[in-house]
Amino acid sequence: MEVGLAREGIADMCSILSMPPPSTSTSYGQHVRTVFQSSEEEEAEAQMAEAVKRARAVAVGGEDSGEEVINLPVTFDGTWAKRGFTSNYGVGVVISADTGEVLDREVLSKICDECNMKNQMDKEGEDYKLWWEGHKNRCTKNFQGSSPAMEAATAKILWQRSISKHKVKYSHMISDGDSKAFSEVQYIYGDSAGEAVEKLDCIGHVGKRMFRALDKIKKETKGKLADGKTVGGGKGRLTGGQNGMVGKLSELYRNAIRKNVDRLASKGDQDKLENAKVKMQRAILAVLYHEVKLPDNSVRHQYCPTDDWCEYKNSGTMDDKDHHLDAVFLDLLLPTFQRLSESSLIERCIPGYTQNQTESFNALIWKRCPKHLWRGPLYVKTATNLAVLHFNCGALSSRNRMLQSLKLTSSHHTMVANMRKDRVRISAADKACEESEKKKRKKQTKEKLVQEEDCVEREGVMYESGAF
Ligand SMILES: [Zn+2]
Ligand SMILES: [Zn+2]
Repeated sequence: MEVGLAREGIADMCSILSMPPPSTSTSYGQHVRTVFQSSEEEEAEAQMAEAVKRARAVAVGGEDSGEEVINLPVTFDGTWAKRGFTSNYGVGVVISADTGEVLDREVLSKICDECNMKNQMDKEGEDYKLWWEGHKNRCTKNFQGSSPAMEAATAKILWQRSISKHKVKYSHMISDGDSKAFSEVQYIYGDSAGEAVEKLDCIGHVGKRMFRALDKIKKETKGKLADGKTVGGGKGRLTGGQNGMVGKLSELYRNAIRKNVDRLASKGDQDKLENAKVKMQRAILAVLYHEVKLPDNSVRHQYCPTDDWCEYKNSGTMDDKDHHLDAVFLDLLLPTFQRLSESSLIERCIPGYTQNQTESFNALIWKRCPKHLWRGPLYVKTATNLAVLHFNCGALSSRNRMLQSLKLTSSHHTMVANMRKDRVRISAADKACEESEKKKRKKQTKEKLVQEEDCVEREGVMYESGAF
């Protein structure tokens, strides 16, 4: 299961390695059930309770009695086995924005294997009723409705039990774009100011906003601008795509936000927050003004920071570069830059949270449960629990804990392999932070992000037309 092979996969592997086949399907099913029980009741829950303690300690900034209900900022994401309407399973996960650990998860399933097998039976008959009495407590079908609605449904369940389960309120939800899940939980703790859940933006995704806005301007501005030339074209004009000026300005916009995040200010007093917001707003306007060839340098560099990237501010002169835009673009693009640096929007970016962890967590689930293979609900739940263990405490300790709770000993080879796995993961994480790696990855993911965006947009439309 840890490697995403079900019994058939293991049987194939055994036959290739000339080993006897693994246990029969029936006993394999029993093993899955045992793994599920240990992973669910003992390990994953215990691990998440520990994670909550750590997140609480960060939130209160020191001693925590664990008795008071406190606010925690979290990222939420829903993932399902297949995109679109056909999925039978949905997984919702809440991750602490401060510590990056999983605090809770919920798996919803539209099917139950055992119920499916009894489908032919007469639902009113005595036999069925007797069977149902025995089955209903372990029935895995816990959701009816369309697949996209599952995401919102899992959010509701997770938010509803946050106080009883962990004595916390998930006070801030970090997500990108319009999340149906957010409207589902916004007023779950009450609707007065201070009670309503607030939304924060994932700063990893803010560049897409600018990209979309500029792309729209480029496509929709017809004819000639005030200087007698068209929007697009070559030097000095708004070239499209990720490699053109549309992409470059979006990236600079995102960097202006990233460089000016201030987690402390977001939790501090109002004055500090206002100052941080002004700083971020100026940095965003600096992007546009600096890039446009205005005749008056005191106007052009009015927002640029001193002792930083601006050549003019550093040396007193600056030659125009090929990509610098003609002066006419200030008027054309300024409204967009003003709109995308507007106060309420900027405030959601100030703490500088990202959603990246949820994406890596989702990958851990589906790695154990490849989306293209048919799996039962129990399998998805177990994969989710194993992913929680792996995500919160690494391969070595998570697998050791599982083996211990299954009363199995871990051998030398298991230990060595798991330690290597963690080492690779840690050094990969370190490497990912290095600037050069970052650049390389950015280039690779750029195109993908836009594609993904399109997908999400299309799905958003599908969602609205859903019959629920
Ligand atoms: Zn059932
Ligand atoms: Zn400048």
